[in-house]
Formats: sequence, structure tokens, C-alpha cells
Amino acid sequence: MNNFTFYSPTYFAFGRNTEKEAGHYVRRFGGRKVLIHYGGGSIIRSGLLDRVKESLKQVNIEFAELGGVLPNPRDGLVYKGIELCRKEDVDFILAIGGGSVIDSAKAIAAGVLYEGDFWDFYNGKGQIEKALKVGTVVTIAAAGSEGSNSSVITKEEGMLKRGTNSELIRPIFSILNPELTQTLPPYQTACGITDIMAHVFERYFTNTKEVEITDRLSEAILLTMIKEAPRVMEDPDNYEARANIMWAGMLAHNNIVGVGRDQDWASHKIELELSGLYDVAHGAGLAVIIPAWMTYVMHHDINHFAQFAVRIWGCEMNFANPEETAREGIKRLKEFYTSIGMPINFEQLGAKEEDIPYMVETMGLGENETRGSFVPLTKKDMEAIYRLAVL
Ligand code: NAP
Ligand code: FE
Repeated sequence: MNNFTFYSPTYFAFGRNTEKEAGHYVRRFGGRKVLIHYGGGSIIRSGLLDRVKESLKQVNIEFAELGGVLPNPRDGLVYKGIELCRKEDVDFILAIGGGSVIDSAKAIAAGVLYEGDFWDFYNGKGQIEKALKVGTVVTIAAAGSEGSNSSVITKEEGMLKRGTNSELIRPIFSILNPELTQTLPPYQTACGITDIMAHVFERYFTNTKEVEITDRLSEAILLTMIKEAPRVMEDPDNYEARANIMWAGMLAHNNIVGVGRDQDWASHKIELELSGLYDVAHGAGLAVIIPAWMTYVMHHDINHFAQFAVRIWGCEMNFANPEETAREGIKRLKEFYTSIGMPINFEQLGAKEEDIPYMVETMGLGENETRGSFVPLTKKDMEAIYRLAVL
């Protein structure tokens, strides 16, 4: 096991009706004037926005509002949010929504206190040194941004999707009421489940050996997803299934299943070009890329992929031919994606083979540069993975 530090100080309030405490938590964590940030309107239709405003009024917290965050959140609205916060003297951002809203809120929180262009944090030119506090009310179990230190924003010019990490943008509190996710369209629920599992895969396939505790925690999340996914697809109002998925979404990405071992993240890197270019859901892009990545890299540690097949999918271990077991595990994963309505190739996603060279180029990797740690991948490898995902 590698040395590590783990500090993940988000305060979580989980369960029914917890959104009514939003105002109380803003006050408790020092907010004076809030920017309520949200997406395209699902929280207006569900009445959630009104409930949260009511809870702020009850504790005499003033607020400004900025809706309109798109899935794959854009830089344009971040600039608007930064301006609005400065004008209104906001000192706390309350994100109500999913990963897109939370990531946009994080970008605004860091941008308000920065003299330069906030995009510097996303193109590697600047480091976040201070940020306003961010609280969240989560409406979709997926990105795990409610407990993570990352934010992903899409630059409208060229549709470039880029991420940044900083402990300063980890939410100070997050409210998770599984009931709020019951209004999700099935496709979004499935995208969320796929992203949650992908956050585990990025950490599970590692060159750091014998991190048994972390392997087993990771497997618990994957097995929970496989059990709860069909239940929630069949019965979207199933509270217990929603609750398990929602907490798993947080656990998959606050890094508790990542510490002590090298992490990969090449699949996310490869996927971001897809969801950026075609403006498709991140989870759907991952369902296309993850099996292709697995197929491309499995020979690097065939036994680990066989372990995945045996422990997660209940495959029988073929000791004479572990590759066969590994391939069976990847096949079962694809079948699982299909069973919850996820695409598993370019055509189903709406991606085009002829765009592959563009996506590889916009990744911005030099000729000898690599991404990923399980198998460091060059531009050529990335291209090969896209091509495997076409079929
Ligand atoms: P999302 O993009 O925030 O939301 C997807 C869609 O679901 C939106 O159209 C939204 O509509 C709708 N929606 C959300 N909650 C709903 C509800 N309760 N009922 C009905 N509709 C609802 O989804 P996400 O998967 O959470 O976030 C994806 C983004 O997060 C991607 O950009 C991805 O790259 C990023 N990401 C970030 C991290 C991180 O740690 N920061 C990690 C992984 C991924 P409305 O807009 O109308 O609400
Ligand atoms: Fe993700």
C-alpha cells in the first residue's frame, strides 16, 4: 500500500426531507449571502427550488439566483456567475442539481476570488488559491462532485472539456435526499450508475498490489450497483435502491476507494473528448469507452481482470486460460450496460469514427507524453481505444 493522506471534510446530511435544512447549514458554515445555482428547470418543476428558498428565508439568509447550467457545464455561465457574485457581494454558493451544476458552482467559487481568467485553473495555467464556500443539494446520483475535489467545465469555443482539482473546492456540506432522484428519466439514472462504477474502475485497475481493503470496498460499490440498478430501472420510486445508489455515488468519488494505490483516469480523459464534442451524457460516453479500454489494457494484468470477472460477475475462473475469464467479465459488463439502456459503441452514442483524429489531437498530448498509470497510454494508444469503441 502506498503512503497517503485522506482528508475529506464535507458534512453530509442524508435522507428524506433533508433539503429543508439547507438554510440551517448555510448559516452553520458561515454563509451570509448566497448564490443559488441550478440547471435547466427540473428543480423548478419538482418544487425543490421553492423549498430551498423557504429554508433560506427561515434563517434570514439573503440570496441571488442563477439558473441555466447545461449538462456539460459551459464557461459562459461561469463568467456570468462570477460577475453576479461580485455585484451582489455573495460569499457562499449553493448548488442545487447534479454534477454539472455543482462543477459550475465550484468554478464560480474559485473564479470570484481570482483576478485572472478562471479558465487558467482548467488549462493548467493557474492554481486555485482561494475559493468561496460551496454547499450542495444533490438531485442525481452520478458524478460524486458533492464529495469530490474536482470540477469539469466545457469551453464553448471548440467544445473543449477540461477538469481541475483542489481541496479548496470540495463542498463544505452536501445534502443528499434519495427521494429527489425519483424524478430522473431512466436514461439519466443509468448514466449515473455508469459514472459511479467508472469512478471505481479508475481506481480498481492499478499497479499497486495487495491493497485488499480498498479492493474489497471497491467491489462492495460495484456489487451494490449491479444489485440496485435493475431494481431502480424497474421501480424508479424504490427509495432503498435510490438511497444505496446515492451513497455509493459519493463513496465512489470522495477517494476513500482510491487511497493507498495508483489511480488511472485514462478512460475519463478519453471520454471527456466524446461528451465535450457531441454534448452527450458523460455516463453514456463512459459505457462506450470503459469496455474498449479494458480490452486494450487487460494483458497488462490479466489476473486482475480475471479477479474482476470472478468477484463481480460470478464467472468461473479458468486457471488454464485466465484471459478467457477476463474477456467474459468485460462481456458481462457490456451486457449490463445494455440492460440499463446504455450505448456500448460509437453508433449507439452518436459518435463518428472520422472524428477520432480530431479528438486525439485536442487532448493536447505531446508525441511521447502519456496518460493513465495502469498502462501509460500515448496518443497512438488513445486512438486504438477509440477505434475499439467504434464497434
Ligand atoms: P448533470 O449533467 O448534472 O444532469 C443531467 C441531467 O439530469 C440534466 O438535464 C438535469 O436537468 C437532469 N436532472 C438532474 N437531476 C434531476 C432530477 N432529480 N429529476 C429530473 N431531472 C434531473 O448529471 P451528472 O451526471 O450528475 O453530471 C455530469 C457532469 O459531471 C459531467 O460534465 C461530468 O463530466 C461531470 N463529472 C464531474 C465529476 C466531479 O467530481 N466534479 C466527476 C464525474 C463527472 P436540469 O438541468 O433541468 O436539472
Ligand atoms: Fe465521471
